[in-house]
Amino acid sequence: MKYSKRVQNLPPYLFVQISKKIAEKRAKGEEVISFGIGDPDIPTPAHIIDRLCQAARDPVNHRYPETEGLSELRRAIAQWYKQRFGVSLDADKEVLPLIGAKEGIAHIALCFIEAGDVALVPDPGYPVYSIGTMLTGGESYYMPLKAENDFLPDLDNIPVNVLNRAKLLWLNYPNNPTGAVADLEFFNRAAEFARKHDIAICHDGPYTEVAFDGYQPVSFMQAKGAREVGIEFHSLSKSYNMTGWRIGMAVGNAGMINALMRMKSNLDSGIPQAIQQAAITALSGSQDCIKEHNDIYQRRRDRVIETLRKIGLEAKPPGASLYIWAKVPQGYTSVSFSDSLLEQCNIVVTPGTGYGPNGEGYVRLSLTIPDVMLEKGIAKLMQWKKKV
Ligand SMILES: *Cc1c(COP(=O)(O)O)cnc(C)c1O
Repeated sequence: MKYSKRVQNLPPYLFVQISKKIAEKRAKGEEVISFGIGDPDIPTPAHIIDRLCQAARDPVNHRYPETEGLSELRRAIAQWYKQRFGVSLDADKEVLPLIGAKEGIAHIALCFIEAGDVALVPDPGYPVYSIGTMLTGGESYYMPLKAENDFLPDLDNIPVNVLNRAKLLWLNYPNNPTGAVADLEFFNRAAEFARKHDIAICHDGPYTEVAFDGYQPVSFMQAKGAREVGIEFHSLSKSYNMTGWRIGMAVGNAGMINALMRMKSNLDSGIPQAIQQAAITALSGSQDCIKEHNDIYQRRRDRVIETLRKIGLEAKPPGASLYIWAKVPQGYTSVSFSDSLLEQCNIVVTPGTGYGPNGEGYVRLSLTIPDVMLEKGIAKLMQWKKKV
């Protein structure tokens, strides 16, 4: 057998090395606590699961779904955008349900990128933006996200020869992994930049509902001219603890939505309809669960920040997202500090370099860890000692 270059070039899975060490420790009977993975620990709210079970019993939902999703789901998405962001969307032309945002994020590259084309990608960033680009034969230009710029990319600093080849600009706020947020003014500037340079914007916004201290993140679709230049990916995964059910959406520019729909109609056969029904209930039912979950995450955020400071790490409390982006102590790299936490305290964190070279000097801690485990983890973290 001969595998394609495409497969050979896929980077090794971020956690291979760490997983091996965890397995070794667990085999010795040691308890390892992981702050590594961003996957809500709280179950999907009961009213959503009730609808899912009921819909699963209806034979109407046992057959192939349509790629474009149920009309009622597209309408529920448009209605949710109207209520939450004041943005009006055409449910037939500007809304496309997805099998999770990740699926659409990977597939949109097929609609834009050819060999030699460039995608502008945040560094650190969610790995799928650059992998989707690589799989289509394109190149990623990494835009550094730096603390001194509040983890926003400096769009004016991108070289002209790169801009000339750029087809897509990826943005993600509230941001994974840095926890940074963007305001409407930044999105206005990005939309203007995209129009000027004829680049399509893909904004990835799965964390707009995970926010703290009463803060309400904005949508890229609220920006001036947004629907002329781009789309926004969103997801029910983080808003409603539905990562296991795989449902998300893309909204915005009608041409881009249509291109993605045509591509997808040749690749997949839609989202199981019972899950679409559950999504309708999530989006149009009571939104109380969002505040309840955010209160839990906020308490965890404060506990972790407090602990990190006690052991001498610098970390700002994030205004949104599920992550704390903490600076490693002097004398350590992202990887050596992660190793030290695992060796000394049986704690797993993600090295910042797993999200790109500009993640060096940071580690990411996820807040999706049940309270009992979190408290155990905090007690273990307190044992950490800088090596001398
Ligand atoms: C979790 C996450 C997604 C994926 O969401 P799904 O809808 O579960 O595929 C996309 N982008 C970012 C930045 C994420 O953290």
